[in-house]
Amino acid sequence: MTPTYKRVLLKVSGEALMGDRAYGLDTATVKAIAQDIKDAAELGVQVALVIGGGNIFRGIAGAAAGMDRAQADYMGMLATVMNALGMQSALERLGVPTRVQSAIEMSAICEPYIRRRAIRHMEKGRVVIFAAGTGNPFFTTDTAAALRAAEMGCDALLKGTQVDGVYDSDPRKNPDAKRYTTLTYLEMLSRDLAVMDAAAISVARENHLPIIVFNIHEAGAFTAVMQGHGRFTTVTD
Ligand code: UDP
Repeated sequence: MTPTYKRVLLKVSGEALMGDRAYGLDTATVKAIAQDIKDAAELGVQVALVIGGGNIFRGIAGAAAGMDRAQADYMGMLATVMNALGMQSALERLGVPTRVQSAIEMSAICEPYIRRRAIRHMEKGRVVIFAAGTGNPFFTTDTAAALRAAEMGCDALLKGTQVDGVYDSDPRKNPDAKRYTTLTYLEMLSRDLAVMDAAAISVARENHLPIIVFNIHEAGAFTAVMQGHGRFTTVTD
């Protein structure tokens, strides 16, 4: 089936890589997500990834413990690089050509972020993993995802979460929670739906970049979304 999208950016949070663990990477979970990415890439979709770091370190937690916030945020960015390398290895084990580009130069282990080179990689069918967020403290990888998706000219920003879309309350706590099929950027912001931070939503809104929220842990869900079916919430103008 022809995919609905030509080029997308998938944001995977660090926590999504933990599986049932309390910290770090769960190999089986990373492999399952890598398999879905491979299946989507085989449909002919150009895929870029932004990986978070919350399973290892969050700047805000470091700041709460008394660290300088900017310093702690740099540690958080380094955590995203570790996750990016973990995901690269899982993808390559499945035979998917992959490149990691970091917003903070680390030439011994990955490429620096170069926009045009990243686009070229995708055109050649390589999955590009953007590491180190935006490269700036006080930002999040959600914002990095919106930024890179806009820079890459992606058709959509996919946000893989623990549930299959945006709900009016937490579906894991409230059995009557309702899932939205569509939402506007302004509704997302005004209802404080806590799926993405406001900076990320603003970047998406300014660039008319649809955000699609779906369940990253449901096998095949990413591929289904790429073909225009499955369960998800679309956020647009
Ligand atoms: N971070 C940052 N600037 C960025 C992206 C990330 O300083 O552009 C830091 C920040 O400390 C953050 C950490 O990296 O807490 C991990 O990223 P994030 O919390 O977005 O990861 P996720 O929640 O997606 O796992």
